[in-house]
Amino acid sequence: MRVLILGGTAEARALAAALAPEPGIHVVSSLAGRVSNPRLPAGEVHEGGFGGPEGLAAWIHDNAIDSVIDATHPFAARMSASAAEVARRTGVPLLVLRRPGWTEGPGDSWHRVASLDAAAGLLPSLGRKVFLTTGRRSLPVFTAIDGLWFLARSVDPPEPPIPANVRILLARGPYTVEGERELIAEHRLDVLVTKDSGGAMTTAKLVAARELGLPVVMVDRPPLPDGVRLVSTVDAAVGWLGGR
Ligand code: NAP
Repeated sequence: MRVLILGGTAEARALAAALAPEPGIHVVSSLAGRVSNPRLPAGEVHEGGFGGPEGLAAWIHDNAIDSVIDATHPFAARMSASAAEVARRTGVPLLVLRRPGWTEGPGDSWHRVASLDAAAGLLPSLGRKVFLTTGRRSLPVFTAIDGLWFLARSVDPPEPPIPANVRILLARGPYTVEGERELIAEHRLDVLVTKDSGGAMTTAKLVAARELGLPVVMVDRPPLPDGVRLVSTVDAAVGWLGGR
């Protein structure tokens, strides 16, 4: 069985690690190729996009792929839409592996919004010194807002020029609560902006925000494509493949 894992997440790497040693399964993981030094999964790796749904369908055909598991990040909506369209058109079995989102608990002060633009619109009413963790490509959505200062954390540097009201922090999770607390205190940050990525690697900022009383602007996930089969754990994805 030849399995394509659409990757770029810790879950995708865990799934590749679980499947690669299995006799009779050949795993190819694909990465978008945007991060300069990506953590590579076990097994074969394909780097770079496929060229939209047509390109993906052709690639799946040419590489004799039997099953596709979309284990991309919950905000990688174009890749997920592309995979769902190919599955609909060609009948290749598709499973979506998506970690659950985060849930607000006692002591949290979250403001859920539907988009990055909505997050930017809400920010001036919540704080002045912003801990921005929505990724380097989202920077322009926020930095034009008057009167705000940003500590923007990303894995790779954003495209220059970097506006004067932005300090870039290059880092890659997992993060610790103590480290997040120190960052918030050092820069006197008073509001946190994050996507609802879910997962354990980046929850420390939410715990630190709760402890320090910071409001959190939580950007909701884009909807999944219609009709896709969804699981939330690596074990369930392995089970689905086993059933096939
Ligand atoms: P996106 O907007 O859905 O994808 C844009 C294009 O990049 C896709 O149409 C596809 O190109 C290519 N692509 C995306 N994921 C790919 C993959 N796993 N393998 C091969 N090509 C891929 O995605 P994005 O938000 O830019 O995210 C890019 C990658 O980073 C994803 O793999 C995702 O898992 C990972 N990631 C994203 C975030 C986030 O916040 N968005 C956070 C952490 C990790 P073609 O149309 O040419 O096939």
